[in-house]
Amino acid sequence: MKTLKEYIDWAGEKNVAIGHFNISDSEGLKAVVEAATELGVPVIIGVSEKERSFLGVAEIRVLVQAEKDKGLPVFLNADHTYSVEASKEAVDNTFDSVIIDGAEKPFFENVMMTKEVVQYAREKSPGMLVEGELGFIGTGSMLRDEIPEGVSEETQTTAEDAVTFVKETCVDLFAPSVGNIHGLIKSGEPKLNIERIKEIAKAVSVPLVLHGASGNTDEEVSAAIDAGVRIVHINTELRQAYKKGIERGMSSDELAPYKFMAEGVAEMKKLVIQKLKVFNKMN
Ligand SMILES: [Zn+2]
Repeated sequence: MKTLKEYIDWAGEKNVAIGHFNISDSEGLKAVVEAATELGVPVIIGVSEKERSFLGVAEIRVLVQAEKDKGLPVFLNADHTYSVEASKEAVDNTFDSVIIDGAEKPFFENVMMTKEVVQYAREKSPGMLVEGELGFIGTGSMLRDEIPEGVSEETQTTAEDAVTFVKETCVDLFAPSVGNIHGLIKSGEPKLNIERIKEIAKAVSVPLVLHGASGNTDEEVSAAIDAGVRIVHINTELRQAYKKGIERGMSSDELAPYKFMAEGVAEMKKLVIQKLKVFNKMN
């Protein structure tokens, strides 16, 4: 089977993006895998530090391996990892990729911690991809009243800083701040800075990852993919869909979890199919 790196290259050739969906449990995994399998596209399962601690690091690794063993192109990413130690844990558990997130730290500190994870991964798990982040976009996949503090047009990543960061750290994937925000802003999302994405994509040698794409329109996300984005992250909208489905399931007299939870799976799956069609230009 192709590696995640090979699928990212494939996405580059086809000018599409691979969908990255966060999960907190096996229902989420089921929804994402079923959606991707139905469309016949590769997919990345994302688990943040908190999602990992709920699921168990070794447990999620085994669950995703079971899908891989069926020959499905399902990959596992240790999403937003704020410490070198937790990143090393993901490397030791042979995840397909890890995101060392030092975006809130000063530039130099971010470079140093990212570099350390890259070196560790190269040594312990060759082929595993390391993603670095530059430019703060807020933390947490939640509903927000306003844009998180510390995020503005001025704090967006410049092509110049991106080049320095990628060169210094040797990351495999790069996540910039380009108008994207973690979570969903109730009054509407700010626009993605498509021009900036183009500039950065042209300037750096590694594929770009778009975080916090919940709430951005399909048109904007498509433009971001045309500008050079190869992985798109969705979490908040997925959480909303899951909750909506479960609420419907719980409102019946049904006692069997595999029946009332199935409503949550169905809602999530519907959303993942919609998103994957946009990311893979299947509409
Ligand atoms: Zn993110």
